[in-house]
Amino acid sequence: MNSSETTPLAFAGARQAVLVSPGHLEIRDFEPPHPGRGEVLIRVACALSCGTDLKTYRRGHPVWKLPTPFGHEFAGVVAEVGEGVRGFKPGDALMAAPTAPCGICFYCQRGQENLCAQTMERMVMGAYADYLLVPAHVIARNAFLKPAHLGFEEAALLEPLACVVHAHETARPESFESVLIVGAGPFGLLHMLALKSHGVREIAVAGRGAQRLRWAGELGADRVIDVTRDDAEGAVAALNAGFGPDLVIECTGQVEGWHEALRRVRRGGRVVFFGGCPAGTTLNVDTRRMHYDNLTLLAPFHFRPRDVKRAFDMLADGRLGAGAIVNARRRLGELGEVFSMLERGEALKCAVIP
Ligand SMILES: [Zn+2]
Ligand SMILES: [Zn+2]
Repeated sequence: MNSSETTPLAFAGARQAVLVSPGHLEIRDFEPPHPGRGEVLIRVACALSCGTDLKTYRRGHPVWKLPTPFGHEFAGVVAEVGEGVRGFKPGDALMAAPTAPCGICFYCQRGQENLCAQTMERMVMGAYADYLLVPAHVIARNAFLKPAHLGFEEAALLEPLACVVHAHETARPESFESVLIVGAGPFGLLHMLALKSHGVREIAVAGRGAQRLRWAGELGADRVIDVTRDDAEGAVAALNAGFGPDLVIECTGQVEGWHEALRRVRRGGRVVFFGGCPAGTTLNVDTRRMHYDNLTLLAPFHFRPRDVKRAFDMLADGRLGAGAIVNARRRLGELGEVFSMLERGEALKCAVIP
């Protein structure tokens, strides 16, 4: 069933942002497709900027060929549903992850759905737009009705929070532990909020940039360490009653950050390499330290449906306060400005509201 007789009028003047080449985007008129079997068309209420989008805007992307619509963190209102869709109807508020696994391949059968080929190959792109088609595989596994008390901006954090949840499921932080987060960007601070909600005893954020470090403190970091200062080394060493952090979560996506995380962790501690580095980057690990200091190195990538569900529950619960990560708002027509603002470090995440 669909309401195609009435839709042309409703969709008149629909726009979509297209990244034509690095640094060059256009807001184009587009005709939203009618959803096919299992698909849902939403009117985008909010799309969030993401570090991946910024990187793609600056220098293109190894997988996504340009020109491409982009934006993958979103929430919206169902405009039209395709045949066979259950659980969603026009007018419902919807939140979803931009990816979903196939459920039957080698990796999916082993519970490693984050490694399913379909996950990255069929990722939803094009949330910087008035309308977005959410494909059947996402609707079937990783889409939810947005609770009324949850704002659209916070709901759009489902994808980054699912990445964070997956990392925490892998590293299993305990409430008595001391955790150091390397990198004070949106992911670093999202980790911090999730760790706080787990009741983790001591959370330190090490980063650079006065504004970001101020936000880290305002959002509740127990210690904020400016890595450009001479006393940074001592401040990290003093954590955990002088033993150093039990767990270090690397969120810079730079190999320097990976090395720093490795250097900072206490004997017997764990490192989560969360931020993916540019291709061709190599990590040097001192085997002596690795073995005799009994380090555990973890590198969780992306997320599985169970992480998305857990992230949804955390958002729906309302106590996480993750919405504070979104600290700027712009219209779709101002998307170019969003990226220059992020480059200048003037926002953690920006909500793009069509
Ligand atoms: Zn993202
Ligand atoms: Zn699969």
